[in-house]
Amino acid sequence: MKDNKLKRYNIYIEGEWINAYNGETIEVHNPATGEVLGYVPNGGEAETKEAITAAEKALKEWRELPANVRSGYLKKAFHIMMEQQNELAEIITLEQGKPLNEAVGEVQYAAGFLEWYAEECKRVYGETIPAWSPNKRMIVIKQPVGVVAAITPWNFPAAMITRKMAPALAAGCTVVLKPATQTPLTAIKLFEIFETAGIPKGVINLVTGSAKAIGKTLMEDERVRKLTFTGSTEVGKKLMEQSAKTVKNLSLELGGHAPLIVFDDADIDKAIEGTIASKLRNCGQTCIASNRFYVHEKVKEQFIKKLKDKLKNYKVGNGMETGVEIGPLIDGNSFEKVKEHIKDALDKGATLEFGGKAHHSGINHKGGYFIQPTLLSNITNQMLITKEETFGPIIPVITFETEEEVIKMANDTNYGLAAYFFTESLSRAVKVAEKLEFGIIGINDGKVSSPQAPFGGYKESGIGREGGHYGIEGFLETKYISMKI
Ligand code: ADP
Repeated sequence: MKDNKLKRYNIYIEGEWINAYNGETIEVHNPATGEVLGYVPNGGEAETKEAITAAEKALKEWRELPANVRSGYLKKAFHIMMEQQNELAEIITLEQGKPLNEAVGEVQYAAGFLEWYAEECKRVYGETIPAWSPNKRMIVIKQPVGVVAAITPWNFPAAMITRKMAPALAAGCTVVLKPATQTPLTAIKLFEIFETAGIPKGVINLVTGSAKAIGKTLMEDERVRKLTFTGSTEVGKKLMEQSAKTVKNLSLELGGHAPLIVFDDADIDKAIEGTIASKLRNCGQTCIASNRFYVHEKVKEQFIKKLKDKLKNYKVGNGMETGVEIGPLIDGNSFEKVKEHIKDALDKGATLEFGGKAHHSGINHKGGYFIQPTLLSNITNQMLITKEETFGPIIPVITFETEEEVIKMANDTNYGLAAYFFTESLSRAVKVAEKLEFGIIGINDGKVSSPQAPFGGYKESGIGREGGHYGIEGFLETKYISMKI
C-alpha cells in the first residue's frame, strides 16, 4: 500500500522532471528505521534511451562552450551546494544512515569536486611535438569523449556523483546518471542544485529504477562513449562485458580489501587514530575501509588495549540523533554478511576482544540493522574475514613478525585499492609504500580521500583514477594533428 502523504519524486530528462513512462515507482527506505521516505520512478530501457538522446543532442553545444563558461556553471553549483549543505546532509543521513556530522563532511567533500574541476576545466592543455621534418607541424589536442554513463553506489551518495560529474562536465561531456537504488533522493537534490545553477537542458540527465535494465541499455547504446562506475567488482565485471560490444572508454572504481599494518616502530596512538578513521567512518562501509589489521607481535597487546578503550565510547544508533557516531548498515544483506564474518571467525578460534553484538530494530523487517564496533584477535588466514571485503565495523587483528612476511600477506589478494601502515622509520615508510600493490597508500594516515588526489586501484579494484588532474583525463580523448606546411 502506498502512503499518499509521502512525496513522489521525479527523474530528470532534458531539463524536465518526469515520472516513469509506465507510472511505476519504487520505495526509498530509511536504513535506521525501515520507514518509507518517498517514492522514485521505476525507470528502465525507454527512459534511459530518451536520456541518452537528450545527452547526445546537448553535447554539440556544451562541448563548444569556452572552458571558462563551463567553469562558471560548476562554480555556481558549488556555491549553491555549500549554501544548502545542511539540507543535503539530512537527506543523506535519512536515506543512507551515516551520522549527520559525517554527512555534512561528505557534502563538503562532494562540493570540493565541483570547485576543483571548475578550476581544472580551464587547464585542459594540448601539446606541440617537434617534427622530424622542417615542413611538418605536429599538434596534440584534447577533446571530450562524448556522452558519459555514470553509475554510482549508495555509500557516498553525493560524493560519488560529483567525483564523476564534475570532471565529465568540465571536460565538455554530457551525462546520464543512474544513482544507487538505495539512495536516489540525494541524487535528485543534487540535480535540483545543478538545475538552479543553470546547467543547460540535456547536459545532465538522471534515471532511477531497474539497475539491470538501465545498466544494459546504457552499455549497449553506441552513443554512450564512456562508462564511469563505482560499485562492486562483480557488477563492474558485468558492465565491462556489456560494454565490450561498443568498446567504451572505462573508469571503474571497484571493491577493496585494504590491509592496515602496525609495525613495531609505530606510534601506537597514531595507529589507533588511523584505525578508527579508516575503519569506522560510514560504519565500515567504504571501499577504502581497512579490512585486515596486521599488528606486530611486540605491540599487539598495547594496540588491542588502547583500541578497546576507544571503542567503549562509541555510540551506535540513528544518525539523526546527537552524539551517534556509528549509524546502521545499509540493509539486511549487509547485516547478514557482517554477522557471518564474525561468526565464521569465532567458530574458527578467534577471540572476541570487544563488541560483537548486533540488533535489528527496523519496521517490517526493513532497516534498523545495527552492529557494534567489534574487535577480534587470534585471526588466521583461514577465516573469511581475511579473504573478503566485510563492509562493516569489524577489526580483525592478525599478528606478524617480519616486514617481508607482512608485505606478502598484505599483497596476497586480487584487490588493490588502498593500504595503510604505521611506522616512525623514514626508510621503512618509503620502502613499504613502494612494495605494496595498491593504488592509494596511507602512511601514518587513515583519512586519504581528497578532491585533488588520484583515487583508484590496482588489480581487480578497478581501472583509471578519479580526482585531481588525473580525474579529468578519463573524460578526454587525445587527438593528434599532423600538418604539412
Ligand atoms: P554495492 O555492493 O556497493 O551495492 P553494486 O555494484 O551492487 O555495489 O551497486 C553499485 C551501483 O551499480 C548501484 O547504482 C547499483 O544500482 C548498480 N547496479 C547493480 N547491479 C547492476 C547491473 N546489473 N547493471 C547495472 N548497474 C547495476
